[in-house]
Amino acid sequence: MMKICWREISSQRNSWANLYAACEREGYILERVSGPEMDVTLYSLNSIVGPGYLDEIRHADCITIAGGPHATARWKNLVRIADYVVTGEGEHTVPRLLKSIESGDPVPPGVATEKTCTPVDHTVYLDGNPCFSTYKGYIEISRGCPFRCAYCQTPRIFGNSIRHRSIRSIIALAESFSQIRFLSPNTLAYGTDGIHPDPDKILRLLSELSGTYPDKEIYLGTFPGEIRPEFVNEESVALVTGYCSNRRLHIGAQSGSDRLLKRIHRGHTLSQVWDAVDCCTDAGITPVIDIIVGFPDETDDEMVETAGLCREVSRIGYVHAHRFIPLPGTPLEGSLSRDLIPEVHTVFGSLALSGRLTGSWNDPEIRFFSKIPK
Ligand code: SF4
Repeated sequence: MMKICWREISSQRNSWANLYAACEREGYILERVSGPEMDVTLYSLNSIVGPGYLDEIRHADCITIAGGPHATARWKNLVRIADYVVTGEGEHTVPRLLKSIESGDPVPPGVATEKTCTPVDHTVYLDGNPCFSTYKGYIEISRGCPFRCAYCQTPRIFGNSIRHRSIRSIIALAESFSQIRFLSPNTLAYGTDGIHPDPDKILRLLSELSGTYPDKEIYLGTFPGEIRPEFVNEESVALVTGYCSNRRLHIGAQSGSDRLLKRIHRGHTLSQVWDAVDCCTDAGITPVIDIIVGFPDETDDEMVETAGLCREVSRIGYVHAHRFIPLPGTPLEGSLSRDLIPEVHTVFGSLALSGRLTGSWNDPEIRFFSKIPK
């Protein structure tokens, strides 16, 4: 039996839990390593830290498999560095690839090499793939996104329609936790087409979970699953206050400018952000908005509008600010983040000092590691 190793990369802990479980189901036990080891070493690469591992992969004295968002977006480059590149979702493809390496059969769909590349032939059915086993990961309740925000890799990797895990499967996964938290591109879209809110679906999820686990705390709409503003309404917020322990909701606002929101294809307006913020405060929930600054074509005026939104929201809530990153595989790949105007630095600096703003608008890497307040 081949020895299959997993290269430890701290930002990829959730992928580790997920892929460990997927490989285990097919009879492969992954061993965590801090460098490439025989026979096979797997790498999951995101687009921030991933490039830092390319030299290691290039010089590895073993079979190397690269996957994750960066490998998916840059597979044409990666096939010159790794032996195999898994494009897209790995839960089925990785075990299939391991089998083909063992047997000498052709590589399965969804794998690229220097000689061949067959498009992936499936999307992962979440219920068939419990997202962790021995090593705990997030409870992923939905995957894929019907929106196409210009800076985001999610719809480009997981597809443009949203899939959901069944409540039964979520309940089974939740048994491992005393605090139940959800991973989703938009937690309040659970059970829907991702576009039209349906609070009844959230009600079923929360009532069945709390009925099964009356002593566990449920957190919805906080890290690791934020929510879109147009899904925040009186009914959905009442479900959070009624069933959940979080007293904050994390809302993806991204900009304070309607013109910019339109250009990046966010699919919501600034007034919907304010409606969401107002719904939260009316119900005694603290809003936390997510903001991105430094889009390549963001004008000075648009930056000022975003700084204004942050200043206003910070009077009643919190801001989590990120610097724009041109992620590979997105329409904004290859563009550069523009410099921030002094006014933004001043506003963000003073909000950060008062504890009302977190994240980093200067160092994009922190985006991937900083924690959001509960
Ligand atoms: S940012 Fe959110 S809503 Fe936009 S495409 Fe990505 S996952 Fe979807």
